[in-house]
Amino acid sequence: ESIEQTIERLGAVIPDYPKPGIVFRDLTPVFADGPALRRVVDALIAPFEGQFDFVAGVEARGFLLAAAAAYASGKGVITVRKPGKLPREVFSESYSMEYGDSTLELHRDDMPVGSRVLILDDVLATGGTLGAAARLIRKAGAEVAGFGVVLELGDLGGRDRLGDTPVTALIAY
Ligand code: IMP
Repeated sequence: ESIEQTIERLGAVIPDYPKPGIVFRDLTPVFADGPALRRVVDALIAPFEGQFDFVAGVEARGFLLAAAAAYASGKGVITVRKPGKLPREVFSESYSMEYGDSTLELHRDDMPVGSRVLILDDVLATGGTLGAAARLIRKAGAEVAGFGVVLELGDLGGRDRLGDTPVTALIAY
């Protein structure tokens, strides 16, 4: 079975969640399957092997992938969080997404200037979330080595919002 087939088999599709008209793709069953989780994490790291010093995850599902990917590659994990969750000085970035406006934060001193950071999340939709995460990493003086997502919703143009930085998606719709 290919990785696309595994994601397709295990992933759930929920119409009208969290709002009418939105088709939500739920990947938690992929994460709950041991072999599938391992393959997904390995496939997200592979294109960026040797090109990153940290793995950043976007709260909350991105944390799962980032922690696993960081552990597997012997790197540290960075948390990009929702507002008010980080206890020390932060950078903040606001953005708009499918369901409304939001803000993300990053500790100002999480990594040395010049660090190369791989940013992971479960789904790329409009690109607002990953775009904001990338601006935070750059504000902190670090470099975005690439973006990795399990699933890309291609017709929302998210990839175009992420500029020239490489994006790996394991499956696209
Ligand atoms: P974007 O900012 O529009 O690219 O949306 C991506 C963010 O929203 C990610 O953090 C995803 O976890 C979440 N998201 C958007 N659409 C879906 C979906 O269909 N399934 C799961 N998460 C989604």
